[in-house]
Amino acid sequence: MISNLLSHEQFLDSWNRIDGIGPIGSCRPQHFSEMDKGVISLLSQLQTEGERKIFWVIQKHDGISRTEIAELTGLTSSAVTQIVKRLIEMDLVAETETPNTRSVGRNRINVVVSGHQYCSLGIVMRRWDVQWVVTRLDGQLLYTTETLLTGSARENVAATLTQVNGWLSQSGRELVSVGIGIPTFATKSIPIPEFLDSVREQWQVPYVTSSNACYAAFAEERTVVDSSPHSFLYVFAGGGIGGAVVRRRPLGELPDIHVVEAGHVGIDPQGEPCICGNRGCVELSASPIALARAAGIRSLSPTKNELCRVPESLTVKATQDFTYGLTSIANVLDVSDVILGGYDEPVLRHLYGRLPQLMNGHITPSGEPLFIRFSNLGLQAAAVGAAVGAIHGFGVPVSTPLVANQH
Ligand SMILES: [Zn+2]
Repeated sequence: MISNLLSHEQFLDSWNRIDGIGPIGSCRPQHFSEMDKGVISLLSQLQTEGERKIFWVIQKHDGISRTEIAELTGLTSSAVTQIVKRLIEMDLVAETETPNTRSVGRNRINVVVSGHQYCSLGIVMRRWDVQWVVTRLDGQLLYTTETLLTGSARENVAATLTQVNGWLSQSGRELVSVGIGIPTFATKSIPIPEFLDSVREQWQVPYVTSSNACYAAFAEERTVVDSSPHSFLYVFAGGGIGGAVVRRRPLGELPDIHVVEAGHVGIDPQGEPCICGNRGCVELSASPIALARAAGIRSLSPTKNELCRVPESLTVKATQDFTYGLTSIANVLDVSDVILGGYDEPVLRHLYGRLPQLMNGHITPSGEPLFIRFSNLGLQAAAVGAAVGAIHGFGVPVSTPLVANQH
């Protein structure tokens, strides 16, 4: 476990460091006014702590009332009224009226995120393809497309950029930010620096980057209710297995998210060699790609239907391996809550349905029982997280040319 984490850091050190700002794997929120000097971000117009906090709360709880905002933030109701008024003037939020279902009393006035003339772009680089999503400020999907990185990757990316630009000008929306997710365990076959450079030339907006696992975890955190535990382990079974630990912060503040190499926990010292340099990692036996291969499915990104045909004889062993890996990470990090995302929930249940049963009864070092649940965000979680995260400057700012360290 420890050696995996170290090799991950060393790897980032040699490849992913962006001009001295820091490794992509550990991601603290940046203040968006510091994001990209010379480019004015939409949210840099929010000047006070109260404004930023209230916008974040409305974004997370679309259709909230002013009274509820005051209760959640601890701000006085007159402060909330004033700040909401300013956000309405800036056209970032709007009022909606919900009919009162009781016979007496006025209709309920709620506040929702508006700013529908704006949009944010989330891009996720994977080993074989790139996913692109455009979302509204409230995270709602507007547009999605993908690029294959096999074959003539450069031409494919250029074609997609033309396509995205075409969509943007046709929609008449103003792009306010771009978030780019990259694989935590990238190999040099993925042209990350070239890719980032070609995307960065396109738009005069703030760019941030983080790992795919961080952005998927960010999307998940947005769906978690405020009374939930302070921290949780998020595990992403997309093609391979990735993960992040989410330390939730007081309301109105972005979470701290750090990559955890959930797929590279060694469970068999005599096992197959892994991309990370170790042997017998959990990813080699339990990831969706590994299961698909074991079931004789050859495609690089197996479909939901293909994965649902993986026989139980394979999923039982994989789920046992996964349980071993997850409980050891949960022990090291001392988190009792685990959320498993990645493929759609029915696929995850087909592959790893016995996880809750197998993990039940495990106790973390602080004495809490382990609890695992399945996410329903699906494979687009990372791209949506990148788009919404970018609005808040979540990630490492990409404001200078990316240079790979060659030592
Ligand atoms: Zn590994």
